[in-house]
Amino acid sequence: MTSPLPAEQQGSTDSAGRSIPDPDRWSSLLRGSQGAAMHPDALHRLVSRTTELLQLAQAEEDALDTGAAAEAGALLVESHFTDPDLLAGAIGLLQAGGPGQLRCAELAGAFAAGWAEALRERTLQEQEAIRLAADTARREAERALRESEARFRALFESAAIGIGIGDVEGNILAVNKALQDIFGARPGDMQGRRVNDLVHPEDSPGVWEAYEEMVSGKRDHFSLDKPYYRQDGEVVWTHLTCSLIRDDDGTPVYQVAMLEDITDRYRLQERLRHQATHDPLTGLPNRSAFFERLEAVFDSPEPGARFGLCYVDLDGFKVVNDSLGHEMGDQLLAAVALRLESALRPLGHLVARLGGDEFVVLLEDCRGEQEAVAAAKTVLAALAKPVPIDGHRLAIGASIGVLERPVAATTPMAAVRAADLTLYRAKEEGRGRWTLFDPQRNARSVSRYAVSVRMPVALDRGEFFIDYQPLCRLSDGSLSAVEALVRWRHPQLGVLGPDEFIGTAEETGLIMPLGRWVLEQACGQAADWVRQFGDRAPQINVNLAVRQVRNAGLVTDIDRILRSCGLDPSRLQLEITESAVVGPKDESLRALHSLVDMGVSLAVDDFGTGWSNLAYLRDLPVSSLKIAGSFVSDLKETGREQQLGWRIVGGLVSLSHSLGLTVTAEGVENADHATRLRQMGCDRAQGWHFGRPARPEEIVRRIMEEHDLKPDK
Ligand code: C2E
Ligand code: CA
Repeated sequence: MTSPLPAEQQGSTDSAGRSIPDPDRWSSLLRGSQGAAMHPDALHRLVSRTTELLQLAQAEEDALDTGAAAEAGALLVESHFTDPDLLAGAIGLLQAGGPGQLRCAELAGAFAAGWAEALRERTLQEQEAIRLAADTARREAERALRESEARFRALFESAAIGIGIGDVEGNILAVNKALQDIFGARPGDMQGRRVNDLVHPEDSPGVWEAYEEMVSGKRDHFSLDKPYYRQDGEVVWTHLTCSLIRDDDGTPVYQVAMLEDITDRYRLQERLRHQATHDPLTGLPNRSAFFERLEAVFDSPEPGARFGLCYVDLDGFKVVNDSLGHEMGDQLLAAVALRLESALRPLGHLVARLGGDEFVVLLEDCRGEQEAVAAAKTVLAALAKPVPIDGHRLAIGASIGVLERPVAATTPMAAVRAADLTLYRAKEEGRGRWTLFDPQRNARSVSRYAVSVRMPVALDRGEFFIDYQPLCRLSDGSLSAVEALVRWRHPQLGVLGPDEFIGTAEETGLIMPLGRWVLEQACGQAADWVRQFGDRAPQINVNLAVRQVRNAGLVTDIDRILRSCGLDPSRLQLEITESAVVGPKDESLRALHSLVDMGVSLAVDDFGTGWSNLAYLRDLPVSSLKIAGSFVSDLKETGREQQLGWRIVGGLVSLSHSLGLTVTAEGVENADHATRLRQMGCDRAQGWHFGRPARPEEIVRRIMEEHDLKPDK
């Protein structure tokens, strides 16, 4: 590379006569430096300019232009040639004339000074820029923080919802105005109080567990309705939402509670709830409130927990109601409720009205039978004195069924049913008394409503079935007929016998579809047996309820059933009770005649129990008579009683025969009785001695055995 300056401008030279700096070396020094990456053109310009400046510095013979040298140094720094090695290299080239040459040393010094000054300047500038940037950033952050804080403050202070902030130790740190208002507190009253002091007896179960879980970091929030005491002692209901705030590491640091005052809504709800759960006449909890409380007793009870029920029914209330009017009846009920409530509430028992004149006392956490009996006695004592109403002094008593049991032993429905049944026993045993639940007797009977409520669907769901009990000829013990006896496989109560539901079925009218179903099943079964065994098949006996006999459609029903299953009418015997036929002119009598004309035979069932007029027997188109089981079972008595019993049975047998009727003795339980009845001329017998009610397969087995038939026939 050639020097950019004309030869006459060139100043000092090195020992080899080259100008300082040597243009080639200068150029290669800069090109080889670690300076900022530069475009080759720019680098070329820099090399020329610095060379030019350095030579310009030496242009005057006598005085060095230090300014130009310094400018060359500064120019390099400006172009980011700040490497100290480059400086050292540059100084080396500038001192090429040798250390002895004062002028070269001066040149190098001026260059270095310019370079250093420019570098210092540049560092300062950079520092300032950084400081400025940092400052701007800080101020920006502060402003943002202030803004967000202001936003938060505004929100916190003016929020319509109460907000409180506390630490996780449970100290209240700050509350807003709305929260102060909810608590009726003045500014500052709430700060420093402890969250745990804000308990209320009506706090829903679990609220404090949820709180502890939250502050210990196990959950992040919870929300529920909670009451608080205001500063003035009043209760305020709130919808509370609590949230946990954690630091960046996830450690819980604060809790925030948000409370909405829902007192009005709560009170309204309470009023509606009270209306729904209380009886308007007496103000006592009603049936649904009682069941709710009872079910709560069964809801996760302590092991060994017991409870008691007193099922109370007023004696003679109907008389008051019917004779003195409903208004008086209502007043009496209200007075009774008040007496019961004031006698039993102090003992901690719940008194509820189930409806009509039925009340119930619930003993939660009962300590034993004695306590339940004591409650029943308290009821009787509370009603011992007549109730004065409108100048009358109304004597009212009560019968009470008392039940006291371990919670684990029963269910709410079964318990109420059992108490109800026990009450009926109390009534039967004479009024004005309490009776204690007897598990064995209870097992045998079923409450009225368990039956009546379920029965309508039971038929559709196929819960009924029929057992067949043999009626045997006493002469040889052979099978003459079978009686269809209906049973109900109740999903909760197990298999129920007809005595437990036929009465209710008659009351509710359900006996009609049920009775028709029994007839269809029994006739269908009998027809099957005829097809299978011909004449060896037994006759079928079906019971008819009073209501069925009185029903106008009976004859057509039976005709249709017999035709549809193809059973010969002579194979069907209908058993009717005396009460089915009131008198000779009765409509039902005509129906019975039609049935007999059709070929069906009739038997009088349970003969001897309450038969008032033997003359009817003559007018009834019956062909058979069944002596009630009670007569025969009375024969177990010894001595005179037994003699009398046999004489009566003997009398009934000969009376029947004189009227041309065959006689069946029911309830024959042993061989002695069977022998004696045969000797008396009784035709047939039914009873455990001859076979219990059984499944159809058992009857089939019996027919085959009797006729020595092989099973595959
Ligand atoms: P019932 O017509 O007097 O039927 C005989 C009852 O005596 C049956 O009771 C039977 O199980 C029972 N029994 C049979 N042998 C003996 C014995 O040796 N000793 C004792 N102690 N008892 C014996 P169940 O099945 O409970 O029937 C009760 C009543 O229900 C029947 O009395 C009958 O009046 C009525 N019933 C049964 N099925 C129907 C039906 O389909 N319709 C109607 N309306 N009533 C029915
Ligand atoms: Ca019968």
